[in-house]
Parts: sequence; C-alpha cells; structure tokens
Amino acid sequence: MTAPFYITTPIYYVNARPHLGHAYTTIIADVATRFHSMRRTDTFFLTGTDEHGDKILQAAEKEGLKPKQYVDKISALFRDLWPELNIANSDFIRTTDPAHKAVVKQILTRIHAAGDIYFSEYEGLYCFGCERFYTERELVDGKCPDHEVEPKVIKEANYFFKMSRYQDWLIDHVKRHPDFIRPERYRNEVLAFLKEPLEDLCISRPKSRISWGITLPFDPDYVTYVWFDALLNYVSALDYPEGEKFKRFWPGAQHIVAKGIRKPHGIYWPIMLIAAGIPIYQHLNVHGYWNIDQSKMSKSLGNVVEPLELKNVYGLDAFRFFLLRDMVFGLDSNFNQEALVQRINSDLANDLGNLVSRVLSMARKYFKGVVPEPDAGLLDAGWMDLKAVAAKTIDRFDQQMQAFTFHKGILSIWNFIGQMNKIIDTAAPWQLAKDSEHEAELRTVIYNLLEGLRIVSGLIYPVMPDSAKKIQVQLGLDPQAPFYFLNRLMQWGRLQPGTSLPKFKPLFPRIESIPEAPKQADASTGDASQPAAKPLISIDDFAKLDLKIATIVAAEAVPKSKKLLKIEIDMGERRTIVSGIAESYRPDEIVGKQVVVVANLKPVKLMGITSQGMLLSADTDSGFCLLTPDKGTAPGAAIS
Ligand SMILES: [Zn+2]
Repeated sequence: MTAPFYITTPIYYVNARPHLGHAYTTIIADVATRFHSMRRTDTFFLTGTDEHGDKILQAAEKEGLKPKQYVDKISALFRDLWPELNIANSDFIRTTDPAHKAVVKQILTRIHAAGDIYFSEYEGLYCFGCERFYTERELVDGKCPDHEVEPKVIKEANYFFKMSRYQDWLIDHVKRHPDFIRPERYRNEVLAFLKEPLEDLCISRPKSRISWGITLPFDPDYVTYVWFDALLNYVSALDYPEGEKFKRFWPGAQHIVAKGIRKPHGIYWPIMLIAAGIPIYQHLNVHGYWNIDQSKMSKSLGNVVEPLELKNVYGLDAFRFFLLRDMVFGLDSNFNQEALVQRINSDLANDLGNLVSRVLSMARKYFKGVVPEPDAGLLDAGWMDLKAVAAKTIDRFDQQMQAFTFHKGILSIWNFIGQMNKIIDTAAPWQLAKDSEHEAELRTVIYNLLEGLRIVSGLIYPVMPDSAKKIQVQLGLDPQAPFYFLNRLMQWGRLQPGTSLPKFKPLFPRIESIPEAPKQADASTGDASQPAAKPLISIDDFAKLDLKIATIVAAEAVPKSKKLLKIEIDMGERRTIVSGIAESYRPDEIVGKQVVVVANLKPVKLMGITSQGMLLSADTDSGFCLLTPDKGTAPGAAIS
C-alpha cells in the first residue's frame, strides 16, 4: 500500500449550469482516482459547489427564489450530472454546509488572533462581474479580461490578509519542491509572479454590499469574501481539524484546477495553509482550456457545450477517451466534433475495437471459443513475446499517469495495441492453422493475444471503465473483480486456459458521419407522420415570426453530412442557412428558386456553420418539398 491519495476539483460556482470545462476537470479527477485504485491506494475524491456571493444572490432574485433554494437547485444539477458521466466522487461539499462554515470561522479566528488579518481602507478598481478588485496590470485595455467592461473605482474599508509576510517562504517552498505546481510552465509563472512584491489580500466585503456569505467571526458587519470561504472546503470536507479523514488523506492532497484559478491555488492557498498551521498540499495540477472554435468557452459567449448531449451522441467512454487523449494536460485544446469522430474511428473502432474482434474471432475459429493452453517452451519466443512488452507498457503507464501526463499514458497503451496488431500480422495465425505442425505455435500466439487483451482492459479502466468491463466479460472474466490492479496486470499468465469466451459483441462501432446537432433548429427534419397537437396561438404569437421571401443564390453539400445543405440566400441581405434537405434536393437544382424563410430564428451552429434562419418545407412521404411563392417576388418581401 502506498500513501493515501486525496484529489479535489475546484468547487464550482453555481451561477451557471455545468459545461464541458467542468466535466473535463471532474473526469480527470475521476481518472486519477481510478488510476490510484489500480495501485491499490486508498483514495478520496472531492468535488462540490461554491454557493456564496453577490452573483448568486442576483441570480436567485432573478428567478424569484431565496438564495438557499436557488443554490440547492443548481448544486443538484452538478451533483446529478457526475454519476451520468461515470464519475465516482467520494464526497460532494457545499459551502453552505454548516460544518464547512464552522471550519471557515475557526480558521479565520485563528489567523486574525495571530495578527495576520488587519483592517484597512482601500481604494481600487472593482469589477462587479468578478466580485473582485483588479490591479492596473491585470486589466486588458483598461478592461476586466473576463467581462470586457471597465472596472469601477470604489473605496471601502475591509479586512486584509498579510500575504506579503509569507512571500519568501512560498518562493522557497516552490523552489524546493519542483513538482509542487505542474506542469512546469505554471510553476515558472508562479515563480515569476512572486518576483514582484505580493500585495495583501482583501478577504471581506461589507454586508451593506454583499450579504450572502459567511459572517466574519470578529466583525458582524462583514462577510468573508471568496477565497477564505471557497479554498477551505478542501480541508473542511475532511472534517478538519480532528477528523479521521483529515488525518488519513490530507498528507497526500493534490488539487486539480483550470489555469484561470492557478494564482489563488498556487499563491493564496499555500500561504493560507502556512498561516493557519496546516501542512501544505502535495501538488497543484493545472490544466488548460477547451476552446470551441478558437475562443474561450464561457457562459457569456454562449457557446457552451453540454456534456450530456455529447455523451448521448457519442457514448460515454468515447467522450471520456477523447477528452483525456486529445488534451495535452496543461495546454489549451480545441474541441470540435470532427476531431472527436476521427478519434473514435481511428483509436477506438480501428485500433482497439478491431484488435479485440480479431483476437476473439480467431479464438472462436481455431479453439471453439475456449482459451487455449500456451506452449511453455514457446511462450518467451522472441517474435511473440508480449510479456516483456506488457511489463514495459505497464511501467510507463504507471509513471505517466502519476505525473498527470494522461495523453502519454494513453499513448503507451496504444503502442501496446499496435504491437499486438503487429504480432497478428507477423504470426499470421490463419497460416499456422493450415498445418498441424504449427499447432503449438497457434495455441501460444492466441493465448498471448488474449492475455494481452486482459492487460489492455485493465489499463483502459481509469479512462473507459465501462469498456474495460466489457472486455473482461468477452474474456470470460469477472467484471466486478478488481481486474485493474497493477500487480495483477503485471502477472503474465493469469488468464486460465480452458476458460470459455462468450459470444462477441463489437465495442466501438465506427461513426460514418457526424451526427447532427441534437437540438435541430431546422423544422424540415421534423417528423410529419406524427402530427403534434400544437396549442392554439394568438395573432400576436404569429406576428413574432419574421417570415420573408428569399432567392437561393448558391447551395452546396455540407461535407460529411448526408442531410445538410449550406445555402446562401438573398432576402434583401445575404444570409447563410443550413437546411436538412440534402436527401431531397441536389444543390444545383435549387439555385435560383424562391423560398420562404424564417428570418428571426436564433442563429444555430450546424457542423461548424452558423445557420441564420430556416427554410420552410413540407415533409412528405417522398421527401421534403420547399415552399415557394406562386409568382416571382422581390427578395425580402414580408409574409403575413
Ligand atoms: Zn470581471
């Protein structure tokens, strides 16, 4: 047994629904936890929600709810999402939990009594969106980088935490622990930041301005502002100070954060810990952002990708695999469905899926679906010696996963898969099967390949737990057993000859074309065979539709889609519309046609193209039929 492993995600702020970024961070924490359970380490995985602050109060008021009702509702969205993504967190903390609030007060009291918190007047540039002061240096063109608005100058008296007192200690700590902050680029950044004098941290807000928070234990007119509330969740969740969990797990603590909050976690948090007399965490693991069409994903930009939609379209394991395989931990990555489909087809359907199906169908064909007995003398023969390759692979995987270089860990599994495919080609079991002289070789090759699949299923377990279990079932093994323990994977030959292999089911079907967006905006894909009973509407409701005549000036097929056409229209102005009529019309036959367009439909992105409206069409048994005016009409003419 190694030292217990404790991993946290940031607690998520409940002013928005969970998006791809939240899912990524939490899936990584899940993968890291499952990986450590492969090492038979005792693990504790914490996630949760950050529920105080002005933005929460405003969001609650907007929905006509009390703040607690509101945070209960949004917090539940996060809590309920994680099991859907196969995320097995040990606990879910909420900063409105009474036990958490008690720990915050206790630690604030101690640090205040020690003289590290003082009261002072402060004037600064404040962004109300961020609920924080900015220094001139942090602004971009004089504006908040997140909200792109100019901060307001405000002056108020507040409590400050003497961070400057611990600056030299922190520099020394970071220098003495090379992987305290990783990857290295972020460690270097923190060290560069620490070259400048550290400003003291404002840790309060007057209740006159923000009331939804934890009251300072030493001043009833103030609440504690974000960091002393939020960061302390990492210890309060373990029942700090006396809890068994705290004693057991805190010494092995690691945090995962997106790069946007590396500074509070890399600077404020260790200083808060040292000031409170709590041992410092082991590692801060910083990841980059998922960019969607090159821009940072955020709620205000409105291009949020819903994790559940992606799971439903592509399958959970494929989604998890893509996130871990495509992002180099620490760097930004672009998210697009083309890359996801390519990844599924090449790595999952082709490499892994094909390997499993080739090996199992040969076992079925040559050995009636029973694991054959290998020939002891041939087991280590050079060209079929998978045993040594497996040992090296497991070793490399172990190191890379410990270092949070997940994509490299996955690559080492895929190298092993490549080796297995190569052995099949070299050994050519179909040739060996032709001649009884090669019977011992055939048995040994197939046994080795089946044993190789057992190793692969163990190694993919942290990233794709469901698929790992499916392969176990295909090998006639117990998917509920801890088949993924590294020491079991290291023991070559655990698969028992004579085990019967059940009927094979394909693991990852190829995706032939990118499934269309689950929320299809074009009515032409609606199902006309089931006329929906729609409610009566008033003329006012009808008047909300901006219907116009337009002329199609160009049309082309959307690559990789069977259904979609990209259509340029003239309706007084030029627009692009993506329409699902490709199975009914060729692009060249609709150019010049006049059509009816819903001009005020919210733009929607389909296959990477922004569609600014919708063409009206009837859905008939023989396909779609575009609506068209019965005589030539000026483009842009309004329809009523
Ligand atoms: Zn801001």
